[in-house]
Amino acid sequence: KSFEALHLKPNILKGVYAMGYNAPSKIQETALPTLLADPPQNMIAQSQSGTGKTAAFVIAMLSRVEPSEKFPQVLCLSPTLELALQIGQVVKKIGQFCTDIDIRYAVRGEEVSRGTKLTEQVIIGTPGKVFDWATKLRCLDLSKMKVFVLDEADIMIDTQGLQDQSIRIHKLLPKTCQMMLFSATYEKDVMQFAECIIPNPYIIKL
Ligand code: AMP
Repeated sequence: KSFEALHLKPNILKGVYAMGYNAPSKIQETALPTLLADPPQNMIAQSQSGTGKTAAFVIAMLSRVEPSEKFPQVLCLSPTLELALQIGQVVKKIGQFCTDIDIRYAVRGEEVSRGTKLTEQVIIGTPGKVFDWATKLRCLDLSKMKVFVLDEADIMIDTQGLQDQSIRIHKLLPKTCQMMLFSATYEKDVMQFAECIIPNPYIIKL
């Protein structure tokens, strides 16, 4: 199997090769044909760190961004600041040839002045900050999101507040938004949460 067979946009394919990846990993090969297909399909994937899951959802996110449209289009929620920054690094690298795609972190320490509207297409953040920006500051418009990624769902449900905030954010997304959830484990409580927020998912267990 090759990345060419996935029919990525040329700029994204260049970014993937710039990462030094020669061939898709198992999760990428399994998830990407479904994630990139039209109409968009929702997904729940059980996949541990080290499998290439970050690049899988980053490719899926970048593929749906319309660079000429200057408003938030894809949102990735991560349980911690550190993980959000790591995901952002992958977005920046794989997206390095996608000129006109900008990324904004919604994490502790980031500030937006009142009255501004975010114009970056890619938003990566932690649930608390994203919810705050979407509702209290109202600088983050979630109503036109095309892709929603919830990473490390098993950690989200184990951490007080993160799960509730994720559910509140989820309620602000449009019905048309493609939803994907990643979890390292396939335990019952995670899957109950996953199935309640991801309608009609394609399920991948690695
Ligand atoms: P992750 O599962 O997202 O934590 O990724 C684990 C590691 O695998 C990261 O260091 C990636 O850069 C690397 N990786 C992801 N996809 C590929 C690939 N297709 N080929 C080689 N390495 C990859």
